[in-house]
Parts: sequence; C-alpha cells; structure tokens
Amino acid sequence: MAFGWIDEQASARRRAGLVRTLRPRPADSPLLDLASNDYLGLARHPEITEGAAEAARRWGGGATGSRLVTGTTELHGELERELADFCGFEAALVFSSGYAANLAAVTALAPHGSLIVSDAGNHASLIDGCRLARGTTQVVAHADPESVRKALGTGGGVPAVAVSDTVFSVDGDAAPLAALAAVCREYGAGLIVDDAHGLGVLGDGGRGAPYAAGLAGDPDVVVTVTLSKSLGSQGGAVLGPAHVIDHLVNAARTFIFDTGLAPAATGAALAALRLLRREPQRAARARAVARELHTRLTASGHEAVRPDAAVVSVRAPSPDQAVRWAANCRAAGLAVGCFRPPSVPDGVSRLRLTARADLTQGQIDRAVGIIGDTRP
Ligand code: PMP
Repeated sequence: MAFGWIDEQASARRRAGLVRTLRPRPADSPLLDLASNDYLGLARHPEITEGAAEAARRWGGGATGSRLVTGTTELHGELERELADFCGFEAALVFSSGYAANLAAVTALAPHGSLIVSDAGNHASLIDGCRLARGTTQVVAHADPESVRKALGTGGGVPAVAVSDTVFSVDGDAAPLAALAAVCREYGAGLIVDDAHGLGVLGDGGRGAPYAAGLAGDPDVVVTVTLSKSLGSQGGAVLGPAHVIDHLVNAARTFIFDTGLAPAATGAALAALRLLRREPQRAARARAVARELHTRLTASGHEAVRPDAAVVSVRAPSPDQAVRWAANCRAAGLAVGCFRPPSVPDGVSRLRLTARADLTQGQIDRAVGIIGDTRP
C-alpha cells in the first residue's frame, strides 16, 4: 500500500488526541464569535458585502488569469494605491492570499548566497518563505533584537534580511519593531514584517504596526498584510518601496504563476479600507476590547498574556483541558480558538480570543462569564 504510512500517522495522531476536523460554520451561527480574525466586524458589513457583489457582477466570479495576463482589473490598481497610501508606503502589490504574499516577499528578497534571520515565533507562511528562499536561514530567539544583531553579524557582508511578524498570531504579543529596524540599519539589512494582525488594529486609525513604530515609508522596510482579517475580505499584499514592488512583479513566483485576486475579494477589501478611513475609531475600539478582556480574565484568576493588539491568549493547563474548555465554551454559546501542540512549538496550550471592535458591552460580559464558568 503506497500510502500505508499515512494510516500509521493517523493512528498516532488519534492516540495523542490531536486529530483536526472541519466544522462548517452555519450562515446564521447562534454562537458569540471570539474565534474568527474578523477584528473590526467587517466581514458581514453591508458595504463590504456589496463591494464584493458589485465587483463580481462587473468583473466576474474569478480573475480569469494571472495578474500579468488577464487577471488585473482597475480595482486591483485602486486597492494597491489606496493600501499603500493608507499605510504610508510608496507602492503595494496584491496577492491571492497573505500566505502567497509572505512566500513572495521572502523568496524574492533573499537570493542565493543571502542571509535570512527569522524570529522563532514567526507564522508558518514566513517559515515556508524561508524554506523556499535560496538564502540561508538562521532562526533566532523570539522578539529579541540582540539575537538578530548577533545573527546579522555572522553574515560577512552578504545581502541580508530579518523577518518577523509584527503581532504574533498565537499570543498576540508585538515585535520590537523600532529596535529591529535599528539593528537592520546598522548592518545594511532589509526588514520584512508581516502585519497580518496589526493592519486595521494598530497605528493611527489602523494604519498598522510599522506606521505606529515610525517605519512607514522606510526604504529598507517591506510589509506584508492579509486582507482576510481586519478588512473582512480575502487576499494579501506586499507594501514597500516602488523598486521592491517592481521586483516582485518580475520575480515573485506566487505573483507570476498564481491567478490574480478574485474581483469580489478585491472589491470587498477596497470597501473595507474606505470604511476604515471614515471610521478610524474601530481600530482603537478593538484594542480597548482586548484590554478589557485581559483585565477581567486576569482579575478572575486566569493567566493571560497582556495584549498588544486584538488577540487575547489565555493559558490552559494541558492540551486536553484546552480542548475541553473550548468545547464547554461552545456548548455555552461562545466560539473561541484553541491552540495546542503541534500548532504551538512551545508546548503551551491556550484559548485564543479575538477582541472584535463590534462586540457590545453585554457580549463582552457574557464572554467573560462563560470562560470563567466553563474552565475544566
Ligand atoms: N501571516 C499571519 C501572521 C497569519 O496569522 C496569517 C493567517 N493565519 C497569514 C499570514 C496568512 O494570511 P492568509 O490567511 O491571507 O493567507
């Protein structure tokens, strides 16, 4: 049996209680949602769904080809200009996912013979970018500019980039961006940061973590984002200096060989960005909800990481208890994220809560109550 080894792996997974399953989300779920990444509550906002519907009616259900052939519509250009302008960068390039944007940025900016310095807590898509890139990767301690400095010091003058999430997706803690940029500057290295969880939440009106750190428009900084979290759509983008973006158009394989972002997703992201410009208070509200969840949960004895953005991570004593706790929450009407090994390399299981900007005070009270009452 060619694939017999898969069944052995599956049995081991079952024995360890680590089987992953898919659960369809009903369109009108009765659950209170603290599990999605819809930080600003825009995914079902009528302006965003209408942006998607109108784009699909005008341009079609799909992009019909690679961006370099038939897959670029004027909407793609508008989104790229408005995204770059909003976050304070010279240019932007839209991809079919944040995952593809990360693969593009790292592979295209770390050529053969170069050095990549990667934070140990980085998202899987950055890790995969490092694996696919022709440069050599050194993984360094989490959120530690001194470790980055040491690693860059070993480069011997080859082209180098440091790579980091801005907000780490599991614990919601932020990278020391200004310090990282200073170290990179010292060594003439580029800095690639993934602002998937910062865009729409951090910085003035949600302009993102690099903007908040004073790095907007820095010629040595490249930012990747996803359109699928705070913007309530789907897709990704790379933002940076125009010559870097031109290079990606010519060299990034996940741009060249991938079908362009679907018009509906492009239209939805554009509508969300315009709404965020009009309603900048949404970003601050998401951060305030996170702080309130953290304060109240720690006050009632739970161990939670102080949130830097809109993710609140609550420690669970064991993987088993994390799974039971999340299931108990669900039974009580609350959807929460549940992280456990091997998704978390540090072996610490946790519940992951999304501090959505559109949660009402009553919903926050209910969520805190359920989490407290259902701990196994
Ligand atoms: N980077 C980070 C930090 C993420 O959390 C995610 C989504 N889980 C991605 C990139 C990938 O983005 P997308 O879902 O748009 O592919």
